[in-house]
Amino acid sequence: MARNILIVGGGTAGWITAGYLAKMLGAERPGGVSVTLVESPDIGILGVGEGTFPTIRKTLARIGIDEADLIRRCDASFKQGAKFVHWQAEPGTAASDHYLHGFQTADDQNGPELLPYWLLGMAGDARWDEAATPQKRAGDACRGPKLPSHSDFVGPLNYAYHFDAKALAVLLREQAIANSVRHIADTVSEVALSDDGAIAGVRTAENGVLTADLYIDCTGFRAELIGKALGQPWTSCRDTLFCDSAIAMQIPYDSPDAPIASYTVSTAQQSGWIWDIALGSRRGVGHVFSSAHTDADAAEAALRAYAGPAGEKLETRSFRFDAGYRETNWHKNCVAIGLSSGFFEPLEATGIVFSEIAAQLVANLFPWGGDFETSARQYNANLRARYERARDFIKMHYFLSQRRDSDFWRDNVRPETTPDSLMELLDRWRFRPPNELDFDPNIDIFGAPSWQYVLYGMGWKTDLSAKAPVFRLGNEARAAFATIRQHGDYALQQLPTNRDLLRHAQNAR
Ligand code: FAD
Repeated sequence: MARNILIVGGGTAGWITAGYLAKMLGAERPGGVSVTLVESPDIGILGVGEGTFPTIRKTLARIGIDEADLIRRCDASFKQGAKFVHWQAEPGTAASDHYLHGFQTADDQNGPELLPYWLLGMAGDARWDEAATPQKRAGDACRGPKLPSHSDFVGPLNYAYHFDAKALAVLLREQAIANSVRHIADTVSEVALSDDGAIAGVRTAENGVLTADLYIDCTGFRAELIGKALGQPWTSCRDTLFCDSAIAMQIPYDSPDAPIASYTVSTAQQSGWIWDIALGSRRGVGHVFSSAHTDADAAEAALRAYAGPAGEKLETRSFRFDAGYRETNWHKNCVAIGLSSGFFEPLEATGIVFSEIAAQLVANLFPWGGDFETSARQYNANLRARYERARDFIKMHYFLSQRRDSDFWRDNVRPETTPDSLMELLDRWRFRPPNELDFDPNIDIFGAPSWQYVLYGMGWKTDLSAKAPVFRLGNEARAAFATIRQHGDYALQQLPTNRDLLRHAQNAR
C-alpha cells in the first residue's frame, strides 16, 4: 500500500507535481494520498522557463488556477506558437525566411485533409503555415487568440502562455497548499537508502528525517535523489543537440502600449538561436548557444546586438546545461520530474510540458496496491519513448536548415550527429506527408501538425507527383483554403490585440 508522497524541490516541476497530484490523488479527502513538499530556502529555483505548450491550460485548470489569476499574478501573455526566423537560411539569402509553428491544427475537420492539396499547389503561393490556419496572420498582427467574452482556457485559436517563471512558482505553491499539500521549507542534507536500494528517508537540516512511500525528485539539475543517491545515469544527447549554454536578459517595453507578440520568436544565430518572449510588462530574451562553437563573450555580444539600444546596460544571467535525459526516471520508490529527469534545451518549450506529463503519469500509475515495479516499468518505457521523439523533433529544426555559415550549422547536418530514428521519419516523408499514422498520442508530445509546420516551414519537399491522381477533391480543398483565408480576415477584424486581451483579463472581476 502507498499513501504518502514526499516531493523534494519547489521549482515549477515540484509545484506543478504537488498541486496536480494532490487534486488527482485526493489529498483533501479521507483515504486520499498525502502530499508533502520540502524545498530549500537557501537553494533558489532556476527561474527561467517562460514559454509553454497548450497542455498547460488543462494542467492549470486541474490544479485549480484560473486564467485571470495567472495573467494578473504572473505577468502572463497569450502564446499561439513559435515563429522561426533565419532558420532555413542565413539572413539575406532566402526571400521569406520565417515560418510559424502554430498551435492551431489545419482547418480541415469537415473536408479533405488539406496538406496534400497544398503540396500539389492548390493554395497558390501561400506557405503552409498561412494556408493551414488563420493563426499566422493573427499572430503577425499581435492579435490574441480569442475574444474577451470567451471564458477561461477557451478560444477559437489554440493557445498556451508566456509567463514569469518565478511568479508562477509562487502562484502554484499557494494553490498546491490550498489543495492540501504540506509545505516544509528546509534543505535535504542526506538521502538514506534501505538494504534493497530504495530510499528509506531524507534527512533535513531542521525537520529531522522525512519518510514517504514515494519520493519525487524535483531538485532540478542537482538530482539529489535519482542521480546522487540512487546513481541513475544521465544519457547525454550533446552529440546530437549541441547547445549547452544560455545567456538571458529582461527588456522593459519602451511604452505602455507597445505591442505584445503572441508567439515566441526564435531567431537563428551563427552558433545557436535567440528566444524572444513577450510578457505583459517586459520581454525576456536569451541566446542559447553551443560552447563548443562560440564563447560566452561572443554570445553576449550577439544577444546585445539583437536587443539593440533597449538592451544596453541591462544585466544578464547565464545558464549551463547538458542536453539529455535519464533512461530510468522511476527507480524503486523514487521518481524524477523536471530538470532532474531530463532537459534538451529551450527550443520548442519542452521543459514544463514534460513535468506536466510526468505528473499525469504518476497520477495514473500511482502504486496504490504497492506494485512499484510494474508502475516503474511502464513509466520508464513511456517517458523514454517521449524523450527520444522530442529529441528528434528538436534536432529536425537544425538538421533541415540550409545554413552553412558556421561550423555549428555544418556540424548539425553531419550524419553521425543525427539519430537513425529521425532519418527513418524523414525517409517516410519523401513521398507522403506526415499524418496520424506516424504518431502516437501516448508518446508524442508533438503530433502530426507540429512536424508538418516545421518540415514545410523549413522547405522540406515531399514529392506527391506519382500519387497526384488520388487527390480528387481539389475543388473542396480550394474552397477550404479560401475559407481559412476568410477566417484570417475575420481574425484581423475582430480579435483584440494581445495587449488589449490581457488588459481585459487583468481588469476582470
Ligand atoms: P529548479 O527550478 O532548479 O528547482 C529545483 C528546486 O529544488 C528548488 O526549489 C530548490 O530549492 C530545490 N532543491 C534543490 N536541492 C535541494 C535540497 N538538497 N533540499 C531541498 N530542496 C532542494 N522550459 C519550458 O517549458 N519553456 C521554456 O521556455 C524554457 N526555457 C528554458 C531556458 C533555459 C535557459 C533553461 C536552462 C531551461 C528552460 N526551460 C524551459 C526548462 C524549465 O526552466 C524547467 O523545466 C523548469 O524551470 C523546472 O525546473 P525544476 O523545477 O525542475 O528545477
